[in-house]
Amino acid sequence: MKRLHGSLQQRELKFIVECNICLGKGVRLGIFHYLECEHCLGSGWVCGHTLKTLQLSDIVPVLNYRLKDALNEIAKARQLLGTDKTTPGPEQQYQGNNRRGAGGTNYTGD
Ligand SMILES: [Zn+2]
Repeated sequence: MKRLHGSLQQRELKFIVECNICLGKGVRLGIFHYLECEHCLGSGWVCGHTLKTLQLSDIVPVLNYRLKDALNEIAKARQLLGTDKTTPGPEQQYQGNNRRGAGGTNYTGD
């Protein structure tokens, strides 16, 4: 493995994929109970290039980044849907119905 100089580049995010042994679950069904998947150290993720075990300290920053990204996406989607507000106010409904008058959207294209 290449050592990069500089402290910032050591935090470079790995490319990870779901573990092919436990199918990303992090556990495998043993004879009597579930066992931690030794291939991915129970994380459910392995190196995306080699499909080999990655240290958890390499995986966690990636998951952290993805989780924050996903939470941002969810927050954005909620804002678009207006579900951030507890109940849709009357002004919101009014705006929805406030179309332009007759002919405003009646473009026929000729
Ligand atoms: Zn696994």
